[in-house]
This record gives sequence, structure tokens and C-alpha cells, in this order.
Amino acid sequence: MSDYVIIIPGMTALLVFYIYYLSKPRLPINQNRVFLAILAAEFLCMTSETAVVMLNSDYIRTMNLHLLSFINITFFTFYICRSYLFFLFTCIITKTRLSAVKKWITRIPMLITSVIIISSFWNGAVFSLSEKRGFRTGPLFPAVLICVILYALISFGLITVKRKNHTRFEWASCTAYNAVLVCGALGRFIWPLHPALSVFCFLSVIICYLSFENPDIFISDRGGVFNKRALRAVLDESIHNGAYRALGFVLRGYIDERAIYGSTQMDRGVELIIEYLKEKYPKHLLFYLRNGNFVIFDSEALNIYAISEELYARFQQPWRTHDVDIFLTPSFVKVGAESKIRSADTLIDNMLMALEKVGSSNVYGKEMYDLDNTGEIDEQVRVKGALEYAVDNDLAEVFLQPIVKADTGDVIAAEALARIRDEEGRLISPAKFIPIAEKSGYINMLGEQVFEKVCRFVNSNAFSKTGLQFVNVNLSPIQCMRADLSTRFIEIIKKCKSYPERIHLEITEQSMGDSSIIIKQVEILKNAGFQFALDDYGSGYSNLTRLKYYPFLNVKIDMDVVRDHCENKSPFLPNLITVLKQLGYTITAEGIETRSMAEEMRALGCDYLQGFYYSKPVPMEDFAMYYSRMY
Ligand code: C2E
Ligand code: MG
Ligand code: MG
Repeated sequence: MSDYVIIIPGMTALLVFYIYYLSKPRLPINQNRVFLAILAAEFLCMTSETAVVMLNSDYIRTMNLHLLSFINITFFTFYICRSYLFFLFTCIITKTRLSAVKKWITRIPMLITSVIIISSFWNGAVFSLSEKRGFRTGPLFPAVLICVILYALISFGLITVKRKNHTRFEWASCTAYNAVLVCGALGRFIWPLHPALSVFCFLSVIICYLSFENPDIFISDRGGVFNKRALRAVLDESIHNGAYRALGFVLRGYIDERAIYGSTQMDRGVELIIEYLKEKYPKHLLFYLRNGNFVIFDSEALNIYAISEELYARFQQPWRTHDVDIFLTPSFVKVGAESKIRSADTLIDNMLMALEKVGSSNVYGKEMYDLDNTGEIDEQVRVKGALEYAVDNDLAEVFLQPIVKADTGDVIAAEALARIRDEEGRLISPAKFIPIAEKSGYINMLGEQVFEKVCRFVNSNAFSKTGLQFVNVNLSPIQCMRADLSTRFIEIIKKCKSYPERIHLEITEQSMGDSSIIIKQVEILKNAGFQFALDDYGSGYSNLTRLKYYPFLNVKIDMDVVRDHCENKSPFLPNLITVLKQLGYTITAEGIETRSMAEEMRALGCDYLQGFYYSKPVPMEDFAMYYSRMY
């Protein structure tokens, strides 16, 4: 009776679990196929073990022994098949791709053990049944358990060797379900047939489910279609198989439209689009990647052009939500197996970048952006790779561009400008990598690395030789939004035993939002001894009133404004400089390329000048050689 107390709830839980899993949308990928096979094997194992336990004890005298042997053989065979399936599952999670030959080699233990199990029918190798003595394990019974443990041990090996292919969480989950399987097998040395031991396997199934198979982790919170994680999983497999096609589209101006229509209407709009796609393309996989980005995918045929035409035509009509007509326009990106990209992550990154580009460009209306035939996105990926490599290895370089005193022409300061290199060692311009660093969050680490290098420089003999008074360091708006910016910078300056008064921090108007965070950070840094300059003034909204909230010492006039004035004289710049000087700021003119520009800016009252006319930025290590006062 006690067996039933375990068996009945166990079987019920498995059944409920099974129905729930099958009722949810699943991706057609190997991982899910193997998991489904594990569930089937688990179900058959539990059922056959229940039958075996029940029949072996209660019906051995009344039942045909051949039939009973057959049921026992079925159970043991399912038992080892299941452990092989768990091993296959581990291969998939650790991204171990088995060739056909290796697949057969890995099946050998399962096949040999199956033959031994089946032979028990005649020779009692694994078990024997008799009316008198009932069920008895045979001399080769341990072979069954060794087979199970062997697959778990190979799995442990894969988890360790391929640890770069998975996250810590995945590592822990794989280790956990394999360890539970080993415990279950060890238990069978003591109780060869005990329904309680099937709970171990059920536990392994649950661990797999919660860690890798929960359908909810693959489903978007909008409209029940798949999400980005699902796209990554499906692409991972399709790229390897070399056959797939995807059509991405983005709702143009999604953020602005969201502000106009409101988030509720817009979310409903997105859901209506998803409903339409589900109805129109039931055979293709649909993904929603947030922020108005959709992907229609198929591992085989996908008539990209016909679908984009159809969608474009549908978008000519509004999407009606709560009595509001929402007008939206899509922009398309296509990608297929012809793509040279071999990583799902890179492909998704590229696709999102391409969608962002088409979504904000007027060139791509109905026109499709072909991700396979453009080097432009590749370039962005190349820059991102170089940036990550440089920041992860602290290899970003600092170049210094002199700032001269307008009246004497003496170099009295310098601006620190970050540089990184590509694989061939060529410099990449900050215009390319700073926006990518800002989007990816790398700007914080990059900014700190540049800052630390400058701290060391202003503390060095080289700095003293140059006679510089200070070095300007650029701060990105993203850095300014960090609540711990001042703490981090003060820590670094202490660590380097450097002098804050030798560093001026440049921030742009973009950073000066209404946020109190930045005002507070600036105040703390100012009290710690840093000075502040306002960079690129005149290029943005140039709000004069807002300046009073910030303790700027210096305002740098944007180089476009300087150039503009030198090409077409107008009262704008002279008046601006007059006002700024009256407010007490010193003025730097940026982008001075010629002697006449320098004279012009000097005449307007600028205090400092910076530009290629004096010098291009030079590596920080060489700066002292060029500008040392002792030579
Ligand atoms: P910025 O802070 O306004 O720096 C001045 C930029 O103008 C530098 O470009 C400099 O090389 C360039 N420049 C200077 N004089 C002339 C000239 O006479 N003619 C022309 N055409 N250009 C001149 P760079 O080094 O390419 O940096 C571009 C921008 O990238 C910088 O503009 C700054 O906003 C950003 N940046 C550079 N390094 C860093 C950094 O470490 N952190 C952050 N957050 N931003 C940085
Ligand atoms: Mg600057
Ligand atoms: Mg500037």
C-alpha cells in the first residue's frame, strides 16, 4: 500500500505537468524535442515501474512469467534510454555538437546494456523471476546502474570542458540534474525496484524544466508570441543547419508614437499587429523583440518580398484600439542563411541595429534593408568587438590635444581623448565607438579607465615637464546619470594619489537635464577639487539660464559654431561670448584649423584656443616629448 502513496501522486503530478507543457507554444528546436522525449521516457518508466512493482509482488504466482519478464525488461530498457536522453540534453545545453559517428559511439553503452537486459529473458543476467523466490537481481544488474552513472559522468565532463558555452546558472542546473540522476542510480544498488527512486528522475525533469524548458521564458509579454531569447535559440540551431530566412520589421518612430498615443493604446496596437500576424502566417514562427521590433522566421521557405508587400499594404489602414485609430508605418530588414554571420547573438545584434537604422531613416520606406549585402552593420559589429576587447583588457589609449592661451599661444592645458584600435592595430575614431559604448553601457568602464590614466599622467614627471596647468577629461551623459559617479572618481583619484585640481571635467548640455542626480554629482566633485567645463556649447539648445545651476569655470564653443562664424559673420557668436564673459566664464574656442580662425577668435575675446592649427591629438606618452618646456 505504501508504494501507492508514492506512485499515485507522482503519476498525477507528471500528467498535470505533461499537459501544461504540451499546451504551451514550443519552439521546433532539438532541445525541446529531446525534452519531450525525456518526458515520454519518464512517463513510460514510471508506468512500467509501477506495473513491475505491483505485479512482481502480488501477481507473480498467477501471471504468465514470460509476460512478467517482458514488462520488467521494458522498464529497465526505458530506464537506460531515459539516462541517454538526459545525456543528449546536456550535449545541447553545453552546445556540444555530435557528429553522426560520435552519436553512434555514445549509443554503444545503451545498446550493450539493452542487449544484456533483454538476455535476462533467458539467462537471468539482470534479473530473474520465479514463483518461489519472486524477483531477484542477476549478476549483471550493476551494469544497468553503471550505464546510467556513465552517461552522467560523461555529462559532468562536458559541463566542465565546455564551461565557456554556458552561464553559471546553466552550469549549476546541469550539474544538479545529473547529480540527482546519479543519486537515484546509487539508490537502486540497495533497492533495485522501489517507486520512491523514480522521484529522483522526476526531480531531474523538474530541474530541466525550470532552468531551460519553462515555456514562459521564451514567450514575449505581448501577444503570446516568442521573444528574443527564443529567437536566439532558434537561430543557434538554424545557423548551424545553414537554412533559414527571417523578415524583421520595426514600427517607425515607435518611441515618439508611444508618447503620442500613450502606452496603453500603443501596447494594444502591438497586440493587434501580433494577432494579425498569427492569423495571416500561422505556419511561420513569430517573434516580438520589444520596442516595436518584430521578426517573422522560418527554417525553410519564407516569401519575404510577398510578406513585406502584404504587411505594407495592411499598414496603410489604421489599427483600431479603444476607438482610436493608430497609424503606424513599418520598415523592413531581411536576413537569410546567406549571411556570413555564424553567431546567433551577433545576428540578433545586427538585426536590431539594422532595424533601428531603417526605423529612423527616410531612405528605407517600403525599401527593404538586406542585412546579407551590407558591410555597414559589419563595421558596427567590428567596432563593438574592438571596444569590448579594449575595455575588458584596459587597452583604451589616451591622446592629448593641446589647449593654448589665446593671447600668448602658450600650451597651458590639454584635452584627453579616448582611442581604441581594431584587430589590425588601426585607430578607431571616438565618433564611431563612443555612441556604441554609450548604448552598451561600456562607457562607464571606458570613462573610468581614461580618467585613471589621466590621473596617473597628471601625477607624473612628464606632466611637470610640460608645464600644463590641467587636463580636460570628457564625461558622457550616461556617466553623469550614475549616482555613484563622484564616489568612483574620488576613489580613483585617492588610489592614484593624484590632484583633482589638475583635472577639469567636460560635460555637454545633453547631461544637464532636469535631473538632480547630475547637479548633486557635480557639486560633490567640485567640493573634492575638480573644475568643470561645458563642452560643445552652441551646438544644442544653448539654454543660458540653466548654466547658473552648474559651477562651470569654462565654456567651450562648439567647433561648428566657430567655423560657421568664420565663414559667415553674424552677431550671434560675438554677442554670445560677451554674455558668457559677463557671466564670469572663461571661453575656449574649439576646432581652430587656421591662423585666421585663431586671430578671429582671439579678437572676439576667447581665452583659450584648441584645434588642428596648433596640434592634432597626440598619444599621451609622447605629449611630454612634443611639449616639454625643458627641451
Ligand atoms: P569633443 O570633446 O568635442 O572633442 C573634440 C573633438 O574635436 C576631438 O575629436 C578632436 O580631435 C576634434 N578636433 C579638435 N580640433 C579639431 C579641428 O581643428 N578640426 C576638426 N575637424 N576636429 C578637431 P575626437 O577625438 O574624434 O573625439 C570626438 C568626440 O568623442 C569628443 O568630442 C568627445 O565628445 C568624445 N570623446 C572622446 N574621448 C572621449 C572620452 O574619453 N569619454 C567620452 N565620454 N567622450 C569622449
Ligand atoms: Mg570635449
Ligand atoms: Mg568639444
